[in-house]
Amino acid sequence: MATPHEILKKVFGYDSFRKGQLELIEAIGSGRDAIGVMPTGAGKSLCYQIPAIMAGGLSVVVSPLISLMKDQVDALRENGVSAATINSAMDWEDAAEVFRAARNGKIRLLYVAPERLEGGFGDFLREAAPKLVIVDEAHCVSHWGHDFRPSYLNIAPVMDSLPARPPVAAFTATATPEVRADIIEQLGLRDPFSLTTGFDRENLFFHVERPDDKNAAMMRYVGQFPHASGIIYCSTRKTVEEVCERLRKKGVKAVRYHAGLSDAERARNQEEFIHDRAPVMVATNAFGMGIDKSNVRYVLHYNMPQNLDAYYQEAGRAGRDGLPSDCLLFYGARDVVTAKFFISQSPEDTRAAANKKLRAMIDYCHTSGCLRAFILNYFGEHDVPEKCTACGNCTENTERAEITTEALKILSCVYRMSEASGGKHYGISMLVDVLRGSQRAEVLAPGFDKISTYGLLKDRSAREVREMTDFLIAEGYLQVGGEFPTLSFTPRTMQFFKNPTPLVMRVSESDKAKAERIKKRTREISASASEGLFEELRVLRRAIAAENGVPPYVVFSDKTLAAICETMPEDEDDFLEIPGVGAAKLERYGEAFLAVVREWKHRA
Ligand code: ADP
Repeated sequence: MATPHEILKKVFGYDSFRKGQLELIEAIGSGRDAIGVMPTGAGKSLCYQIPAIMAGGLSVVVSPLISLMKDQVDALRENGVSAATINSAMDWEDAAEVFRAARNGKIRLLYVAPERLEGGFGDFLREAAPKLVIVDEAHCVSHWGHDFRPSYLNIAPVMDSLPARPPVAAFTATATPEVRADIIEQLGLRDPFSLTTGFDRENLFFHVERPDDKNAAMMRYVGQFPHASGIIYCSTRKTVEEVCERLRKKGVKAVRYHAGLSDAERARNQEEFIHDRAPVMVATNAFGMGIDKSNVRYVLHYNMPQNLDAYYQEAGRAGRDGLPSDCLLFYGARDVVTAKFFISQSPEDTRAAANKKLRAMIDYCHTSGCLRAFILNYFGEHDVPEKCTACGNCTENTERAEITTEALKILSCVYRMSEASGGKHYGISMLVDVLRGSQRAEVLAPGFDKISTYGLLKDRSAREVREMTDFLIAEGYLQVGGEFPTLSFTPRTMQFFKNPTPLVMRVSESDKAKAERIKKRTREISASASEGLFEELRVLRRAIAAENGVPPYVVFSDKTLAAICETMPEDEDDFLEIPGVGAAKLERYGEAFLAVVREWKHRA
């Protein structure tokens, strides 16, 4: 019998297992129940598909969404594994055909929705005697999880009713210990082999920006990934509409997705995105569940979400194929107001917890520490390095700079603003605007354009002025207080005015240097996507996908295309060495892709 490694290579075209995969495969293969908790993109599917292939006979996968089932079935078939789904969107005859094939031993993996278990499906199972039952997205069985599905509760009784209860393996990306314990209990797992991998997604780069003008920043950002797929999340339907329209006006092929659109339009737009016909998806959080698209190169949050749980899940839709991908969050003070509004509309007994989570989300946007460590700590992982190599804060180049003159300008401005308004105090945003000479009505109305400090720091970016002000607060030269956070003097302020000792702070690199650095990195991320050969391979992949009626990433992942560009295979043996190329795909597509490479070499 083939070993797990042999199947990994022959069927899926990969050389080595990822963290945790082999342990789970061996445990399930030995007939034990199991529970695997791994982040999105870690490769949970192989952990049960390989034991199912090894077991022979029929294995049943319970999965919550038709789109997920369809993707998995498409991907398995592309790899030459017989798989099928029975779901509510099928007509009776097609379903009967699948049952017949399953009974005749023609189907290795059968994907079903949990609701199936309520009907006569139990009889079918008793007769078909599955070798293995897999519960995907197993957190749906738990009240503690975020997607509780009552039908999942039927799984345990149905399993117990089978003459020979098969091993049951559960998988989820939801990390909390309560959910894990609940899954074991509700599914009636028996002495399960339990494996939880870390939640870090090493290929994702996290960063936060506070742009003065989100639209301009977005256009610059999206422009850096000309051919790549990206998702832009917005917090409201209205913003989705506006952002999508703005992108289209600039010639970007963007589609939209939110709960206010018709089912037909949502389905159409999703298809456009998944099949790489529209590179940019602008959406509310209604979009994404059940989307397995592996070649999403960036996720931009145009607004800050309400909590890190949502953020990590949404941002985590980038880079499922393991290639470097980017997760950027635009923070704006108004996002906090929107988030608070949504929370105020939620049931009263949930608001305190929601506000606490919002606080952590805001802290993420403000921290100067490692963003990756912040996220992992939030999810209960404490044994993580304080610094990483792929987040905005850890890669930022800082230098020491003397800011004594700037500090005097900032402090004087606080004084002049208070003087001009009869002793009122203002917040940091207003201070920054006055120092930078803003023409905003709120600045002009109280006459701040007439005071001597107006525009004194107009040659500095808002971020730089804000950072210096934050430094003065941290060092006790200013204090923040009042019902709305406003700035006022401290005893240290007057001392400093009398005797301005040199002030030195660590400053971030200039905005220009930072923009250059980000541009370089995004160029790296999209490099493969814009190269000539990659583009030609993409065109071929899209044509094959359209012919087979499957999404392009099911034919080959971006990672596989990138590997083809890198190694330039000459013959079938070379081609089989490419990650993601197994025997079935070699036979079906090898010649076509090799021909493109040959042609390319010939022209070069
Ligand atoms: P999850 O279900 O955990 O989100 P998937 O099972 O969809 O993740 O796997 C994500 C991607 O990683 C898929 O493209 C899959 O083919 C790939 N993958 C899984 N295991 C391996 C491996 N051992 N080596 C290389 N790629 C892998």
